[in-house]
Amino acid sequence: MSRTLQAPVTVSFDYTRSVGPVLGRFLTGLREGRLVAARTSDGRVVIPPPEFDPVTHLETEDFVEVSPTGTVASWTWVPEPVKDQPFDRPFAFVLVTLDGADVPILHALDVASPDDVSTGMLVRVRWAAERTGVITDIACFEPVGGPDEVETSAGAPSSTNEGEPVTGIITPVSLDYLYAASPEESAFYRGLLEGRILGQRCPTCHKVYVPPRSACPVDGVATTDEVELADRGTVTTFCIVNVPFLGQKIKPPYVSAYVLLDGADIAFLHLILDVPAEEVHMGMRVKAVWKPREEWGTTIENISHFSPTGEPDADYETYRNHL
Ligand SMILES: [Zn+2]
Repeated sequence: MSRTLQAPVTVSFDYTRSVGPVLGRFLTGLREGRLVAARTSDGRVVIPPPEFDPVTHLETEDFVEVSPTGTVASWTWVPEPVKDQPFDRPFAFVLVTLDGADVPILHALDVASPDDVSTGMLVRVRWAAERTGVITDIACFEPVGGPDEVETSAGAPSSTNEGEPVTGIITPVSLDYLYAASPEESAFYRGLLEGRILGQRCPTCHKVYVPPRSACPVDGVATTDEVELADRGTVTTFCIVNVPFLGQKIKPPYVSAYVLLDGADIAFLHLILDVPAEEVHMGMRVKAVWKPREEWGTTIENISHFSPTGEPDADYETYRNHL
């Protein structure tokens, strides 16, 4: 058997959130080069300020500013930073108790070696050159009085973006992973490279799964037979996509549908194009529209979309148990 296939996958979206009046005050402060904390009912000064008092559960109202200098309460060394961490070189994550605060804040410390960081060392904020009201307005912490001391870090540079209070932030969220295809899926993707659609049949219930599964989800037994399927089938259900989203390739409205290929027992999801969205319906007969052969790879994207065949609609009985 040839080796199984694998492919890198990235799932990403921008997470947009409103921050509320308390964190908004904190973030507005960062933009202005100030560190806004809150005093809680037990007298402690906490940064970032909590939205509600941890003891009385009342809204936070007593705000105070704390110093940009502080003391390392704890730390951990990051020898191999990953994407989007504060530095692309080794650094320390530190819990820093700022002067005037009672609870430490988590951030990065810019030092070259774990020998350069210790609990109790004095550090201070290094402000980002341009600040917009996000936690990375604090670029990092840096040692106080160390050999790397630079003049610009002594005070907060003036922001280029003062004005309205900060009410929201946009956080890009991204997950990279490696998808490992099963032997049956690998055969499916290699089949696509030849313009073939390959499923797998369960030896017990004889259902044909495409894309194939290694085991029948009903009977729990390994699928055994490879089955080649037609590249035409029946729309069993569908939705009209009206909402734009990040990375969308087609302008809405368009139709995403479950297509039951002739000979298969489960439908799979693909696009229905070449027809007005409002004309797509259950039972509609469709066929695969393949991209030019020179663009093919081991991917379902070899099929650009499905297009109506013009045949009469399929009888409901032929797909009612395969929705
Ligand atoms: Zn089965």
